[in-house]
Amino acid sequence: MKIDLRQVEEAAKELYIRALKRLPPDVKQGFDALAKSETDAGARRMLGTMIRNIGVAEDTDNLLCQDTGIPIYNVWIGRGVEVDGVALKQAIRRGCERSTREYSFRSSIVHPTTRVNEQTSCGRGVPIINVDFSEDEEALVIEMLPKGSGSENNSWLRMAVPAEGVDAIKTFVIDCVLEAGGKTCPPTIVGVGVGGTADLCVHLAKVAARVTIVVRGDSLAKNMSRYLIERIEGASNVDVITNANVIAADGDMRLAAVVVRTRDEERRMPIDAVFILIGGDPWTKGVEAWLRCDEHGYLMTGADLLAGNDRRRWWPLERDPMPLESSEPGAFVAGDLRHGSVKRVASAVGEGAMAIQLVHRHLATRD
Ligand SMILES: Cc1cc2nc3c(=O)[nH]c(=O)nc-3n(C[C@H](O)[C@H](O)[C@H](O)COP(=O)(O)OP(=O)(O)OC[C@H]3O[C@@H](n4cnc5c(N)ncnc54)[C@H](O)[C@@H]3O)c2cc1C
Repeated sequence: MKIDLRQVEEAAKELYIRALKRLPPDVKQGFDALAKSETDAGARRMLGTMIRNIGVAEDTDNLLCQDTGIPIYNVWIGRGVEVDGVALKQAIRRGCERSTREYSFRSSIVHPTTRVNEQTSCGRGVPIINVDFSEDEEALVIEMLPKGSGSENNSWLRMAVPAEGVDAIKTFVIDCVLEAGGKTCPPTIVGVGVGGTADLCVHLAKVAARVTIVVRGDSLAKNMSRYLIERIEGASNVDVITNANVIAADGDMRLAAVVVRTRDEERRMPIDAVFILIGGDPWTKGVEAWLRCDEHGYLMTGADLLAGNDRRRWWPLERDPMPLESSEPGAFVAGDLRHGSVKRVASAVGEGAMAIQLVHRHLATRD
């Protein structure tokens, strides 16, 4: 696959403009949630101004802030991509310069010692272009991040001693957030890089892993607890695609991409790993001739065995079945594979404990 560098230049330009104009929906929702929960009058006023600013920028197709930050481009080159690396970096730099000139950005980049501003958002080592390689044959991926200088000034680095453990990392992150306080422009997004060398950590903190949730239905809300949905909505690195199916997986030695079909399109997405959660089947084959199952293979217990007109059909004794008791008197069922069970760890463990008591009761009352 050959790369058209004019397309790269155009993409680098458009990405910078787009990143300065559009706030991702989760960040906007974060503002709204904050405005609702904030109790301090001054802070509420400030939040209100910021939310109005977002609306004005959207309505007038304008930048969200005059600070255009430090441009960072993360590039992933697929295995089957043919490209002159030097020319690729030059094309990205040209795109960055053009966005600044053609859109009339306020260039924030100055020479570190002479303070000369070339008015191009470029300078020594800027834009920062990180190049990496991916398994994907047919893709050149470019991600753009305008890093606000205010937040860059609140970048911190610490060498942790292994004996301090993970708690030391958590404490350090929290201390840094408290120390930064209101010095960074909101919304504050904390990037944490752990492990390797100092430069690797700082890079990792800027390239947060992304997760895409592909949902076959039209919303997560049907089957998922509200608290989980809120966490997903609040995570800036999690995207949700609804009314969608994964229809193909692609890769050589390992997975490299999946094809996702929505109502409107088929999209190929470079990806490192897939976690599939599409429901469960009870593993009751082999006992279905012995214990009564429902039409999906879950084991019937207790009062459910007596449903219908013919009490004797599934239950042989005069006494009623005990809770959790299967159609075989004295055999009890606990957990997910029981018909009607709550599919949760706590209930499975609870039913297990109950089953032990019920076995004792059965043995004590047996003729
Ligand atoms: C992805 C996912 C996320 C979940 N998240 C949560 C959560 O956040 N909170 C929560 O409360 N619940 C959660 N659950 C549900 C929870 O895991 C189950 O409700 C719980 O594990 C049920 O316990 P169980 O003992 O009935 O079955 P299981 O945990 O499935 O145990 C059954 C065991 O029997 C073994 N087995 C099967 N057949 C045989 C055989 N013939 N011989 C011997 N062994 C056999 C299996 O290998 C398995 O180890 C989640 C479930 C999934 C799949």
